[in-house]
Amino acid sequence: MADVALLNVTKRWGGFVAVRDQSLAIRDGEFMVLLGPSGCGKTTTMRMIAGLEEPTSGDILIGGQRVNDLPPRDRDIAMVFQSYGLYPHMTVGDNIGYPLKLRGIKGAERDAQIKAAAAKVELGDLLHRKPRELSGGQRQRVALARAIVRRPTVFLMDEPLSNLDAKLRVSTRAEIKHLQHELGVTTVYVTHDQIEAMTLAHRVAVMNQGEIRQLDTPEVIYDRPADLFVAGFIGSPPMNLVTGHHGDGVFTAPGGFRFTTRVGHHAGPAVLGVRPEDVTVAPAGGGDLDASIYAVELTGDAVLVTVMAGEARLIAKADRAWRAEIGSTVALRLDATRLHLFDAATTRRLN
Ligand code: ATP
Repeated sequence: MADVALLNVTKRWGGFVAVRDQSLAIRDGEFMVLLGPSGCGKTTTMRMIAGLEEPTSGDILIGGQRVNDLPPRDRDIAMVFQSYGLYPHMTVGDNIGYPLKLRGIKGAERDAQIKAAAAKVELGDLLHRKPRELSGGQRQRVALARAIVRRPTVFLMDEPLSNLDAKLRVSTRAEIKHLQHELGVTTVYVTHDQIEAMTLAHRVAVMNQGEIRQLDTPEVIYDRPADLFVAGFIGSPPMNLVTGHHGDGVFTAPGGFRFTTRVGHHAGPAVLGVRPEDVTVAPAGGGDLDASIYAVELTGDAVLVTVMAGEARLIAKADRAWRAEIGSTVALRLDATRLHLFDAATTRRLN
């Protein structure tokens, strides 16, 4: 078993709280992504699991065992960073085999393990090269292979894709996902990139200001964000958020924005959320709300239509063939089954 648990973990630097009373249970074999903006405490959380930082209070458990007092080398973890951490003077093969050397594994057994790990990340032909003779993506795969040969009970990955260009990031992402599935190793992965989090994770912990705001599957995080922070952080283009008032199942906002929500119980200041793909632009008079076209942008596979509805500016995602004149009047239909309603004071989800 290699589940990982944080129990009421806090990390302070002087008066500054980087991680606040955080509890998190990561299951054996799970791919857990810590997602959040810069400075939210995700790297600090990972470094505490690794043993590179000491919690100010609280416990860290790996495989059910309290590891607070174990040095990193005794925690049976392997780390992969954004900077690959390869030895420049060693060949790819020797870099991959370095953890084996430290364990005293030599000769044919070492070579076989290096080959097997290299094959898993498709580096078999490059074992004799030096890191400077590799592309960024290949270097990151060497770092992955070096983590694999250790056969750790936990992988820790801190922004491993962020030095790669956009295309390579997508293919390496799929490789990491495939590899984690194949090896079944409990993995904790830190990123600020919501697409990486959504595509890789079994579950995502969305963090802000040292706290986990929501912990759930990518589907639930996307479909039912727990608060305004999560709602605004996940999704591209982001969820439309309109500030107004809710009561008797009707949401209103300045400038004549009015929409029936079918949410019964809430009365007071509220924020209505609707994702761009859940807004349909229809001919004038044929929808829930009147609006005027502010901008039309072709992204290639879709058209982003920015509209003004009352004083609210919304983005709708339309079919790539959709066109309209700026300034023309249209109607909007909002998918009532996919609306998000938040309490403006607490920022928590209401529906
Ligand atoms: P990023 O994506 O930018 O790496 P992060 O979410 O990983 O951000 P952390 O590196 O965990 O954030 O840092 C959390 C907070 O703790 C930040 O505000 C950071 O400035 C602060 N911090 C981190 N390390 C130290 C330190 N050694 N001393 C003081 N403050 C620190």
